[in-house]
Amino acid sequence: TPLVELRRAGKSYGNVRALYGVDLVVRAGRVTCVLGDNGAGKSTLIKIISGLHRHTEGDFLVDGRPVRFGTPRDALDQGIAAVYQDLATVPLMPVWRNFFLGSELTRGRRPLRRLDIPRMKETADRELRRMGIVLDDLEQPVGTLSGGQRQCVAIARAVHFGARVLILDEPTAALGVKQSGVVLKYIAAARERGLGVVFITHNPHHAYMVGDHFSVLRLGTLELSAERCDTTLDQ
Ligand code: ADP
Ligand code: ADP
Repeated sequence: TPLVELRRAGKSYGNVRALYGVDLVVRAGRVTCVLGDNGAGKSTLIKIISGLHRHTEGDFLVDGRPVRFGTPRDALDQGIAAVYQDLATVPLMPVWRNFFLGSELTRGRRPLRRLDIPRMKETADRELRRMGIVLDDLEQPVGTLSGGQRQCVAIARAVHFGARVLILDEPTAALGVKQSGVVLKYIAAARERGLGVVFITHNPHHAYMVGDHFSVLRLGTLELSAERCDTTLDQ
């Protein structure tokens, strides 16, 4: 059973149709890439899955059961966590503090325990290392990290707090080649840990680096939905 499935899902904002009859499947341990130009409906799609908007047509299923989320809280309770590009971290707070910031919001299905500060630092350090990010100083403000590392802190936080589905909204859009590489490796690490990832991107190259499935939206419809196929071409 897929973690998340949209079947012929549509969304209208009043008279504006933003999505028409879109099918999307998110599976554990797989990365579903969603590509498309501005206005194609990518934000609308992830807002439906993360509980910010409701679909107006079709079906939305989690673990094979139809759901109708009212708020992001409902999505988080199902282990669906979204990491938005600009809102992921608070620049002036220490790294470790960011890791726990909004743990109420990012906790997914894992019950929140009270931890003392040394334990919090230890946990943040362990989770970041586990995903391949080593920082000398977790006291430094998160704003001193690179953009790629900041995205990784936000992703590690969601993973730690029990997300099963990770929705990444253009996580590499503002990053250069090297930092994008950091985030792409991190996406691959999340997949290895069995999360289902929805990776929104404008960049087909980035999508191809980590994607298992590719969905292309155009003017609110699904223009292409394709599994990855790795074939070896004989010369
Ligand atoms: P993308 O994320 O791919 O740029 P969006 O999902 O933001 O696309 O937008 C899809 C369409 O829906 C666009 O035509 C956009 O103007 C429209 N739209 C998005 N949000 C709203 C809204 N809150 N009210 C009315 N129209 C909206
Ligand atoms: P984002 O642009 O970050 O994806 P939204 O799509 O929610 O976020 O748009 C931001 C704001 O602009 C929202 O308040 C939304 O209602 C409004 N908006 C977006 N597109 C349109 C549109 N085509 N018509 C009316 N309002 C829109």
